[in-house]
Amino acid sequence: MKKRMTTTGGNPIGDNQNSLSAGARGPLLMQDYQLIEKLAHQNRERIPERVVHAKGSGAFGTLKITHDISKYTKANVLQLGVETPMLIRFSTVAGERGAADAERDVRGFAMKFYTKEGNWDLVGNNTPVFFVKDPMKFPDFIHTQKRHPRTNMRSTTAMWDFWSLSPESLHQVTILMSDRGIPKTLRNMNGYGSHTYSLIDDKNERVYVKFHFKTAQGIETMSNADAEAVVAKDRESSQRDLYESIESGNFPKWNFQIQIMTEEQTKEAPFNPFDLTKIWPHADYPMIEVGEFELNRNPQNYFAEIEQSAFSPSNVVPGISWSPDKMLQARVLSYADAHRYRIGTHYEMLPVNRPLSEVNTYHADGPMRLDEPKGSDAYYEPNSFDGPEEDKQYVEPPFAIDGDGYRYDHREDSDDYYSQPRALFNLMNGYQKQQLFSNIAEAMGGVPKNIVDRQLALFKKIDPGYATGVSKALSMQ
Ligand code: NDP
Repeated sequence: MKKRMTTTGGNPIGDNQNSLSAGARGPLLMQDYQLIEKLAHQNRERIPERVVHAKGSGAFGTLKITHDISKYTKANVLQLGVETPMLIRFSTVAGERGAADAERDVRGFAMKFYTKEGNWDLVGNNTPVFFVKDPMKFPDFIHTQKRHPRTNMRSTTAMWDFWSLSPESLHQVTILMSDRGIPKTLRNMNGYGSHTYSLIDDKNERVYVKFHFKTAQGIETMSNADAEAVVAKDRESSQRDLYESIESGNFPKWNFQIQIMTEEQTKEAPFNPFDLTKIWPHADYPMIEVGEFELNRNPQNYFAEIEQSAFSPSNVVPGISWSPDKMLQARVLSYADAHRYRIGTHYEMLPVNRPLSEVNTYHADGPMRLDEPKGSDAYYEPNSFDGPEEDKQYVEPPFAIDGDGYRYDHREDSDDYYSQPRALFNLMNGYQKQQLFSNIAEAMGGVPKNIVDRQLALFKKIDPGYATGVSKALSMQ
């Protein structure tokens, strides 16, 4: 027998087809609570979309550790043989909730591991670096990716104006404009923790770490023309591919690897290892195998499990922590803050965000307080009523700070923005270079000449061939 339909208060509904009206032709009666409740809920079916990474697709899976890295970390989730349930949310950055998937953009690669020691969130991208290295520049950068306030259209002028005035963006711009700038599917791209994090061992000693997730499906990409043909027919191409692959039992996998630097190595490195616009060269900091993850379950309800999912680098477990990376430090604060606004103060009580381990806080009331705390006299801390207490064994070792901090970081002004993009440029074969040149030229449509020239001068510092390649592609437009 079918279940009886009810109001949210559980009262049986007698008629869900007709409003309650004074006569057959109306008007309607104010007491028709069922109609009012239905319309009121419709008005509230959306939460604010994410300011960035609004369009996303998610799935559940399992992380499995296949190698022993216990000499670097005491984190239970990273011990040999441990399997941990996880959620991943892939996304584009700039487009709104309804944007097409097959667009040239960085892809978000956000992971939540439901570990025995609380949630570990790794909010990565499909690129190892980012456009800026100081959070002071982040809102301005994002404004250039969003709509122009007057035209309500995206502005290529704003993008190249900002990039050409921010040479630290060259590395990420080169990756974005390369053949990897439009992944064929979400399954065919790598994920990177991007930021430098740290690992802490059972002697409470810290090393620094980069996290890498290499696709087992192989890298596959789309050209601009391929992507245009896809978008013309299907705006949800990434969502469809991920959903259908998992539904058909074709579970995508990624290999999990890390790079390590000791405290001493961070001091000796010829670049700032905490700069988000830099990678750690593989030859100097070799990749170390850790494990793999597989995605094997689609969400049952997109809104409840993906739209309401909330990832924040503030979620770290004992044995995994942050680094002095300025962008990471800002995200530790900013992501949780975004979710409190977007979802509600107690957003981590929602089933998809709730840790599997016990949660014992003294945070009190507020939106989304979903649990039913048992009456207790221990509602503040310290208390004499057996309430939860801190445990000093989890105090982390301090960061070694270089001590030359200054708000306007002159030392960083002389930073090298060119060597690493040059290394990438030199890795590209002839076809990839041509793709890079024509993708940039196409993306520069309508940009004033003085801005284009300023950007070409930056490309020239990477490699004269880079600048002339883009110039030629522009003249062919
Ligand atoms: P390596 O030759 O050891 O590594 C090169 C890396 O570049 C590989 O991981 C490769 O990925 C990746 N790659 C190849 N083509 C592209 C592309 N079009 N866009 C993005 N990544 C690409 O050299 P290094 O470690 O010295 O790095 C050289 C340059 O490679 C860096 O400056 C950086 O731009 C790029 N890179 C480096 C990474 C790192 O962590 N060291 C990570 C990703 C990129 P794959 O193995 O999948 O082919």
